[in-house]
Order: sequence, then C-alpha cells, then structure tokens
Amino acid sequence: MVSVSILKKSFAVVTVAVLIVSAYFIIGILIFAGAQYDDINTRNLEEAVKICGTDVPPSVFTDRSAAAAWVSGFAETSYRITLINRGGQVIFDTAADSASMEDHLDRAEFQAAITRGLGTARRKSATLGQNYIYAAMAINDSGNNSIGVIRLSLLVPSFFSRLLSTTVPFLIGGFLIILGACLGLYRFSRRLSISTEAKLDAALKEKTHELKAKIEEAKEEGRRREVILNSMFDGVIALDRDMNIILANPRIRSVFGVERDARGMFFLEFSHSTELEEAAQKVLSTGLPFELTFKRYVSGIEQHFQVFAAPLKASSQREAQGVVIVMSDISRLVKLELIRKDFAANVSHELRTPIQIIKGFAENILGSSLDNREETRHFAEIIAKNTQTMENLTNDLMTLVSLEDENHLRPDMEESVLAHLIAEAESMVEIAARKKNISIEISCPPDLSAKLYGSLIIQALVNLLDNGIKYSGSGSRIRVNACLKEEQLVIEVKDEGIGIPSEHMDRIFERFYRVDKARSREEGGTGLGLAIVRHIALLHNGTVEAESHAGEGSVFRLRLPF
Ligand code: ADP
Repeated sequence: MVSVSILKKSFAVVTVAVLIVSAYFIIGILIFAGAQYDDINTRNLEEAVKICGTDVPPSVFTDRSAAAAWVSGFAETSYRITLINRGGQVIFDTAADSASMEDHLDRAEFQAAITRGLGTARRKSATLGQNYIYAAMAINDSGNNSIGVIRLSLLVPSFFSRLLSTTVPFLIGGFLIILGACLGLYRFSRRLSISTEAKLDAALKEKTHELKAKIEEAKEEGRRREVILNSMFDGVIALDRDMNIILANPRIRSVFGVERDARGMFFLEFSHSTELEEAAQKVLSTGLPFELTFKRYVSGIEQHFQVFAAPLKASSQREAQGVVIVMSDISRLVKLELIRKDFAANVSHELRTPIQIIKGFAENILGSSLDNREETRHFAEIIAKNTQTMENLTNDLMTLVSLEDENHLRPDMEESVLAHLIAEAESMVEIAARKKNISIEISCPPDLSAKLYGSLIIQALVNLLDNGIKYSGSGSRIRVNACLKEEQLVIEVKDEGIGIPSEHMDRIFERFYRVDKARSREEGGTGLGLAIVRHIALLHNGTVEAESHAGEGSVFRLRLPF
C-alpha cells in the first residue's frame, strides 16, 4: 500500500509544518512583547526619576541623615531610591545599608547621567543579586554643576519568567489545545487513511482483477492463435525489417528442417533460399505483395509450394514493418496437372493411330476403282477394326473418368451373389474365348454374396478375362476362383498365357501402359483395362494384385472387404 503510507506521511508532514510555523510566529510575538515590556518599564522609571529629581536638596549628597529624611517623603513608592554623590559614593539607599555599599562610579546609569543628564541600565544588582532596571538623573547645583545622582531602580523579573508566572494556566491550556489538535489531526488522518486505504484496497483489488482478466484474455487469444498457426497445413513465417524471424509455425519449420524455435534466426540462415530472401526484400522495398512458386526437396521428395509474401503493417502505418510469408504445398496439384497433361497427350496419341489408319484406308477406297471387291472389303474391315479400337478407347475413357469422378452418381452397393456376377462376365467374353478355343473354368460357392457395385465387378472381371484371352494361346485354360478368406472376398483370374516380364509388373496398372504395344493394339487393347480394374477395386476399398512370370501365365487377384 504505497499510496496509503504516502498519505499518512503527508499528514505527519503537514502537522509538523503547522507546528513549526505556529512556533515561529509565537516566538516572534514573544520577542516583540519582551522588548516592549522592557521598553515600557524603562520609560516609566525614567519618568519617575525625572519627577523625583526635580526638587532634590543638595544637602542629601553630603549628609546621610538629610538624605534619609528627604527620601522618607517617598515612603509610599515601590522604587528603590539611591542617592550617589558626584564621586560615586552611595550616600543613601532605601534597600541596603549605604555604608557597606561599594563605589558606584562605574555604574552605566551613573556614568550616563553624569555625561548626558539622564541614564538607564538593566542588570543584575551587585548589592541585591536580582534583576533590576535603573534610571539615574544628575542633580545640579545653582551653578549648573552636577553634585550627585539620584537613581531609581525597580526589581523587574525577566519578561519570560513573568510571562511564565502569569500565563502558566494559559500555556498549559494552549499546550493541551495543541496536543489535542495534533491528536485530533492524527486520529483524523488515521481514520482518513484507513478509509482511503480500504477504498484504495478495494479499487486496487478491482483493478488487479480487471488486469488479470485482461491478461488472461490476451493469453487465451495468443493460445488460440498459436493453436491455429500450429495446426495450419500451410507454412507461415513473419519477418521483421532486418529479415529476422518473428514467428514460424511448425509446418514451415518442418519444410525447412528446422526443429528448434526459429525466432530471432536470420531468414536466409533458416530457408537457405536466396530466391525467397529476395522475394521478401522486394515486398519490403515496394510495400506490395508478391507471389511465386517454389520447389524444394523434402526428405528426397520433390515438393512444390505456392508462396505468397505480403507486407506486414498496421492500418495506421505507412511503411511495412516486416513481411509475412505463407507457403502452400501444391505438390499434389502439380502432380495432378502433370498427370492431366500426360493423359491428354496419351489420349491424343492413342486416337491418332486409328484415325490415321481409318483416314488412309478410306482414301484408298475412294482412290480405288471399287472393282476389286476383295480389296475394298479388306480395306473396310481394317476401317471397322480401327473404329472398334476407337470405340473401345472412348468407352474405356468414359468408364475411367466416371470411376475417378468422386461426384459421379452411381446406384448404391447391392447384396450380390458372386457366382451370378462371374457367370455374367463369362457370358460377355464367351465369343472371344470360343474363337481361340479357350475354356473358362469357374469355381465359386453358389451362396457367396456380398454388398458390391455389381455392374462394376462384372466390368472388372470382363477386363481380366479379356486380357487372359488376349494374352494366351489357343486351346489354353482360364480359371476363375472366388472364395472368402480372412474376412475378404478373393476373386482370382488365372491364365496359362504369355505372362508378364517381372520388370513390367510395377507399372501394368498404370493408364496406357502396355508390355507389348503392337500386340495390345493388334488385340484391340486400349492400355486402360487394368487401370479400370484397379479403380473398381479402390471404389470397394479393396486392392488388386498380379503374379506373373514371362511364359508361365498370370494370376490377377481382387481382394474386396467382406
Ligand atoms: P490392354 O488394353 O493393353 O490389355 P490393360 O491395361 O488391360 O491394357 O493391360 C496392360 C498391359 O498388361 C497389357 O498391354 C499387357 O501387356 C499386360 N497384360 C495384362 N493382362 C495380361 C495377361 N493376362 N497376360 C499377359 N499380359 C497381360
């Protein structure tokens, strides 16, 4: 309670100051009154000695008895009367035996009276040992020569002792009043300070409470911001004007591989990128936002970022106080863009070949005489085959697009009997199989059923069976096995065909990937069949895998959660 003790102290100071000032004035007044007291007494005595000295018979300075007789005329007075001859010898004194009194020649009042006619003094009497004031007057003879001095003296207690003796009750009263006033003042100040203390205490408590709440609120706000920044997928970094880091969220620290708190670190030291450093400097010098794409290898993987750098300034400030940089990972977008471009290039490439063939053979027909029916028929057959290839391609593309489209509306999964789906798929490739004299053997529990996209499973099986037929020699065998294994529906399509060399195994499920392009084209393949199968498996939250060795046939296995 600093303010309260200050209050107490100030009351004490005021009290002391009042006392000092009062004492100063009282002492001043007393000194003045003391001087006045002395002055009045001396003047009164002077007047009295003048009156007494008007008619002094000269004989009193020579004859002691004459002196006594003359002085007796003043018996009523309270003055001490002393008659001193010109030589300083005391002839008569009303208060002491003149015979035993010493010579008064050296007395100041005597000397003054002799030289100036009238003299006064104030001192302790050597004869009587008390404080006296003296007034002396020279007495002259008819020839105007001084023959002696008449002196009146009066016992005057000192002003202060007199003051004390007369004003003791008053002084005690005054002292008590001052004491009372001081006590009153003290108690008042105490009461005031206590009540002020209480008020201050309450106000202080309230303020402290408010302050605490505000601090808590600010902390909470800070925590909220931190949580937001920490959980952001985008990297955020703020720099001051000297390119020192003020803030860096965990995401940006992980991008640049900085584990510790990056605050205070120099930006270049943090990012090791002059490109980003320059961008930040540019924002600082122009005060305008700046955007760029930035590539970086994070644990060996190429990552792409969209970087947005903006000046850091409060609305009231003109100059940027720093730079804030937000880095968004666009690796997925870049990859998708690459795939999209690849895909477009592949599609146009796939289409170009049959189109050119169709164009060429159509021109051939138009340029021929049409007489050679055999030749014309041959050309028409080639055109038809390539038209079929194009149809296959567009069909497969449409299937693939619809499978990849998350928003594509398709009927709900239905409880489907697997044996029926397999039989349906088999019927769709029956003709092609028969053409090559390939037998298809099916092994599937008749009551095995599951919730599936029935038509898509048929499509996947058709693609696998179709491949089995395409890449197997005449008279071979394809086996389809379906069973329930460890909560999974496993459907296997196994052929005895040409097999797939191991180096291709990793890529056969990619779009447009073919082991033998010419053979695939010859067979009317699009290179999309297995990609479609993989998508269908994924749509069921399942997988597809292949086992194969060149010349030993292949097994494709769909695993779907049951
Ligand atoms: P395609 O339309 O060319 O058959 P797919 O995506 O169905 O395209 O298959 C991709 C490639 O995988 C084929 O070109 C072929 O080289 C190979 N392949 C697929 N199935 C088999 C199989 N049963 N036996 C041998 N090779 C196969």
